[in-house]
Amino acid sequence: MNIKDAIWGFIVGDALGVPYEFSSRSRMIENPAIDMVGYGTYNQVPGTWSDDTSMMLCVLENIHNKGTTKNLANLFLKWYNHNYMTPHGEVFDIGITTRAALNNIMEGVSLKNSGLSDERSAGNGSLMRCVPYAFAEDISKSIVHMIMGSRITHRHALCHLCCMYYVKMLRAILEGKGKQEAANNAAGYIKFGWRITETEDDQVPFQEQFSKLFNHQFHALPETEIQSTGYVLYTLEASVWCFLNSENYKESVLKAVNLGGDTDTIAALTGALSGLYYGYESIPEDWILRIANKKLIHEVLDKIDLSGKYFKE
Ligand SMILES: [Mg+2]
Repeated sequence: MNIKDAIWGFIVGDALGVPYEFSSRSRMIENPAIDMVGYGTYNQVPGTWSDDTSMMLCVLENIHNKGTTKNLANLFLKWYNHNYMTPHGEVFDIGITTRAALNNIMEGVSLKNSGLSDERSAGNGSLMRCVPYAFAEDISKSIVHMIMGSRITHRHALCHLCCMYYVKMLRAILEGKGKQEAANNAAGYIKFGWRITETEDDQVPFQEQFSKLFNHQFHALPETEIQSTGYVLYTLEASVWCFLNSENYKESVLKAVNLGGDTDTIAALTGALSGLYYGYESIPEDWILRIANKKLIHEVLDKIDLSGKYFKE
């Protein structure tokens, strides 16, 4: 069990969701996803992954290079302006908040202020790229770096809390915890442990927002209680719910796509949890074969020492 399981689970989930992004749930119920297809929303060939994977690979490379937050912002700009880390040499999908923040940086705004912090900017754009942080040897330090990296584009405290919940859940799985136990661990961290980060504007009331995820019966909620928009909390809830309510990788990511809405991000985040939990071998081989630009993904992953559980520091 290592980062490779999570990364491949993530990328395959992203590609599975790309053709369906913004489809309503009722449309997905009428015509559910059952396989990896292409075209749809962005008219891309099957196996095309999106900004989620591009930005996540930038984070992965930056952690590997022991890069600073500034280095990470530069990698994001290289992606945005020069199609770095893309499946077919073009950026075809970018979130509104991320675009606005990267434009701010290009206009000379400092990284401290480039990210958006209003309520409407509490989207999933930094949550979708945080998987690699779960695999650093020193998780506390990694979480601080993750928040700094998140703030490049997303400064709303809820975004950081959702990132923390998610990486803590991945970390618990990596350490051998069961599904529900991993969710409980993550919830416990947000309830009691997160103040170790000491970023002052994160000190906001949040108990109410996390009430669903704090409930140990969260998995038992009916699908109608699970929203699947790009609002960071809903994306996190949907991903955790799909993972907890599935028996294997394939079932979990198809469930995620079939919720509709922000299908690529929710399936990617579900896929990282499931990929890590069930293992790389559990991901359908024909889906991996269809993934675009595997050469690039292999190049990034090959640089990383996968002999142990964690990034060597
Ligand atoms: Mg996307």
